Amino acid sequence: MIDLSKLTIQTAHEFLVKGDFTARELAQAYLDAVAAKDGGKNGENGIGAYLGVYDDVLAQADVAQKLIEAERAGGPTYPLAGIPLAVKDNILIEGKPAQSASKILEGYIAPYDATAIKKLKEAGAVFIGRANMDEFAMGGSTENSAYQTTKNPHDLSRVAGGSSGGSAAAVAADMALGALGSDTGGSVRQPASYCGVVGLKPTYGSISRYGLMAMGSSLDVIGPIAKSVGDVEILFNAMKGKDAFDGTSIDVEEYRSGAIKDDTTGKKPVIGVPRAFLVGDGIDTDVMKAFDASIARFKELGYEVKDIELPNIGYSLAVYYVVMPAEVSSNLARFDGVKYGAYKEGATGIEDYFETRGEYFGREARRRVMLGTYVLSSGYYDAYYNKANAVRDLIKADFAKAFSPEGFGVDAIITPTAPAVAFKVGEKVSDPVSMYLEDIFTVTANLVGVPAISLPAGHKEVDGKRMPIGMQLTSAHGREDVLFALGKDLLGEKAA
Ligand code: GLN
Repeated sequence: MIDLSKLTIQTAHEFLVKGDFTARELAQAYLDAVAAKDGGKNGENGIGAYLGVYDDVLAQADVAQKLIEAERAGGPTYPLAGIPLAVKDNILIEGKPAQSASKILEGYIAPYDATAIKKLKEAGAVFIGRANMDEFAMGGSTENSAYQTTKNPHDLSRVAGGSSGGSAAAVAADMALGALGSDTGGSVRQPASYCGVVGLKPTYGSISRYGLMAMGSSLDVIGPIAKSVGDVEILFNAMKGKDAFDGTSIDVEEYRSGAIKDDTTGKKPVIGVPRAFLVGDGIDTDVMKAFDASIARFKELGYEVKDIELPNIGYSLAVYYVVMPAEVSSNLARFDGVKYGAYKEGATGIEDYFETRGEYFGREARRRVMLGTYVLSSGYYDAYYNKANAVRDLIKADFAKAFSPEGFGVDAIITPTAPAVAFKVGEKVSDPVSMYLEDIFTVTANLVGVPAISLPAGHKEVDGKRMPIGMQLTSAHGREDVLFALGKDLLGEKAA
């Protein structure tokens, strides 16, 4: 019996190379865990992290075993060979269903691999199945999935967060060693925080968006979820890089000026606290206690922590909820019933379009298409869309000032990831605005394009359950290295 609760990607790799178990045995152990805990079709009797498990998992593991044997024979290192991963349902794997948890893509089979998937395949990763999500990544609880709600492994009466809730729950419940999510306004970090695992929203463009179904194209990025910072780093390194298929993709290293401070100067990086953003009664007191404890820990570790100002950060949520639906309304226009997925016939060609979209898009998707169309319509374009973009520039300037040596000169900014712990299933479904408020701390990194990581940093006791609390660190463009170093320090992981 392999004890999955103790494994990380790093330790599993060591065991695989030593021959303690094979990739097939490891894959089988995860398939057994899914069968035992996930609750079957639509996840009714369990966690509900997976929309489907692939039928070729063991065959994938056999292919990976060859890389492991090559490494054992003295060849190159393959840190992800044989590592079982869950993949969010909006990321394409050739020949496999991908639906963004939407009825409108019922029956759709991906015709090609996303670039991130192609790279992971080359690295020998094993894909277990499609992780549940909010439809087209819109939401913060997976309750907008057209198929099922993913439950929090720490308390099945609570949500796993979203939109990458299936990915985070799969990792937290040891039904995958790592997972891919996508993050447009917090969808990797918030579920990671709710489920007590690590989630990275990388620098915009650092991982190609080719083969990721578009939600808000100026905000979207694929991000890894895993049990440790070191594991998240391995996944990020395997997927990152400039890609000819995505004109917005970049090589993060080109954005790095200089090593992490500690390496060269002996001085630790400086951490900024946007104090004015953290007052008020919207934040749970236990979350604030965990936040203060994380700051105290960083100080103990020798970091300088200082207050900074981000004067326009308070507008982030309003800006996000204008820019994002505008982009959603245009990106979702392609789902017309003609090219992919479900189709409902109407009286005329144009009626087909209305019938199909009216029937197969869920409420939240329709709400955002309408909001986005409204803010882009001729009478309101300047008042909403252009205004939001102008304020987005001010927020970017605030962050540039925070990270610049001429400004506050900090290397990272710390906030909680979410204002509270995971809420109850059903608690916020009839109140979209209260759901949107959960995104208060996460949307800024997407608006600015900078990387941010959520780290498990404490618990709150509720109803006899220990619900995880997450802390978010944000750094400058391309400085994932800073997030990994600080994250490992905070969690007490040995630097790899
Ligand atoms: N919860 C946010 C929203 O509903 C974030 C979604 C995301 O990052 N995909 O838009």
